[in-house]
Amino acid sequence: MKYDKVFRNPDKVRQLSMAINRVCKHSWHIMEICGGQTHALAKYKIEELLPDKIRMIHGPGCPVCVTPVGIIDMALSLARRENVILVSFGDMMRVPGSKDDLLTVRAEGGDIRMVYSPLDALTIAQNNPNKEVVFFAIGFETTAPIHALTIEESYRRKITNFSLLTSLFLVPPAIYSLMRDKDCQLDGILAAGHVCSITGIEEYKNLALSLKVPVAITGFEPFDLLYGIYKCVLLLENKQYIVENAYSRAVTFEGNVKARQLMRKYFSLTNVEWRGLGTLPLSGLCIRDKYEQYDAIKRFQLKTSHVKKERFCVSGEIMKGKMLPDTCIHFGKRCTPEHPLGAAMVSSEGVCSAFYRYKV
Ligand code: SF4
Repeated sequence: MKYDKVFRNPDKVRQLSMAINRVCKHSWHIMEICGGQTHALAKYKIEELLPDKIRMIHGPGCPVCVTPVGIIDMALSLARRENVILVSFGDMMRVPGSKDDLLTVRAEGGDIRMVYSPLDALTIAQNNPNKEVVFFAIGFETTAPIHALTIEESYRRKITNFSLLTSLFLVPPAIYSLMRDKDCQLDGILAAGHVCSITGIEEYKNLALSLKVPVAITGFEPFDLLYGIYKCVLLLENKQYIVENAYSRAVTFEGNVKARQLMRKYFSLTNVEWRGLGTLPLSGLCIRDKYEQYDAIKRFQLKTSHVKKERFCVSGEIMKGKMLPDTCIHFGKRCTPEHPLGAAMVSSEGVCSAFYRYKV
């Protein structure tokens, strides 16, 4: 309620919108890289408050959407095994693999359970000592620490029938890749506040300098989003390639040091495939060799399959700002939240689901 009054206050929002219109002299493409922000922009109709000169690009900020088909197929193959209980966040259930989704496999008898926290998967493992329990661990820097904590807790409780199928992504390498893509026209970045509350600001400072792109760290309420856009436009107009922390109530310069220590203890950097964007160098995390008993890929000797081009879905083009969801020929026709062709229509953070929910 307190936050509603402050950060959704119509007068404050209107004042910020007017301030953006006042300072914006040139055309700018600004990307948010957070599915939560994409949904908030659509839900509160923030883009309608911006001058025509500003175009928002809805970047690859939804972990469900960027998890590649090959990893989904691995989850499906695990879920089909007699001795495996696959545990997942609910968002993953309807994400299409190359043929099926988890919901279909569950209907066929696969033991797939939905949880809100990875730690719940440990309880399932303890209650089912004769089964192998695999948690489908997806996410960005925000969720990686809790996945690391799950490994630590599994070790502490001496649980031996538990492992993780990981699909963990890091945001800054994706920004580097997008900024270097000549088809992707990007002037400024809104960095996700919850990611920066873990990472801190240092990494984004270096990124802003080396790529010559202003970064505004931004929250999720209408006021936060407009304040971040305002700061980003000011930096763009003044050609300042620095980081502005427009979400200082949650983000500090050093971030969450303990969470990063935990991540470093259990995970190392690796090249990962992003659905729609391809394989980006050192853009993800994998479980360190020392803890390989917790790595489902090694434990079950799973093979990675690469699906070169998705037949229907153009979400990669949307994440690069080359298209909008409603210009996909399947949007709202063959592809709906009830019958999704792509992950971006399934996830509660997906850009296509945001457009379908709030803009149709
Ligand atoms: S509307 Fe569906 S098929 Fe088109 S890009 Fe979005 S998720 Fe993919």
